[in-house]
Amino acid sequence: MDSANEIRFVAEMTLGKLSKWLRILGFDTVYAANVAGEKLIDTAKGRILLTRTKRIRNMNIAKERIFISSNHPFEQLREVVLALGIAKEDIRPFSRCIQCNASIRWVEKNAVRGKVPDYIWETQDAFHTCSHCRRIYWSGSHIQRSRDIIKRLFK
Ligand SMILES: [Zn+2]
Repeated sequence: MDSANEIRFVAEMTLGKLSKWLRILGFDTVYAANVAGEKLIDTAKGRILLTRTKRIRNMNIAKERIFISSNHPFEQLREVVLALGIAKEDIRPFSRCIQCNASIRWVEKNAVRGKVPDYIWETQDAFHTCSHCRRIYWSGSHIQRSRDIIKRLFK
């Protein structure tokens, strides 16, 4: 099985939540919200295309295509995991920006003072920032919820 470093996705417009989840797991995922036709073919190069459209599934876009049938983001995520045989060891959770897909890196606590709410700065010690959009991440209840969902995903 290829690890999160090698698997790259492009997800079509209807799969915004799934895109976010794949980024949470650490997969390089382009969300092709406004991309269609020729441009989609270009964007999909070297990536696995995730689609809910039968017409697109049958077109010769991307080397590999996964047809997503569920409406529910968690079930969609499970479809991808099962289709590729992704194991828990293959993922790199919380290593990528959920907003823009760039990698995030550790940042010194002092550097984020004034950029996060005061009570967060006072109660948290580990901060990460996106190398592209500069969004700041810290461990919070949403991380715990995501960990629970990841546990359920690989059960
Ligand atoms: Zn970002």
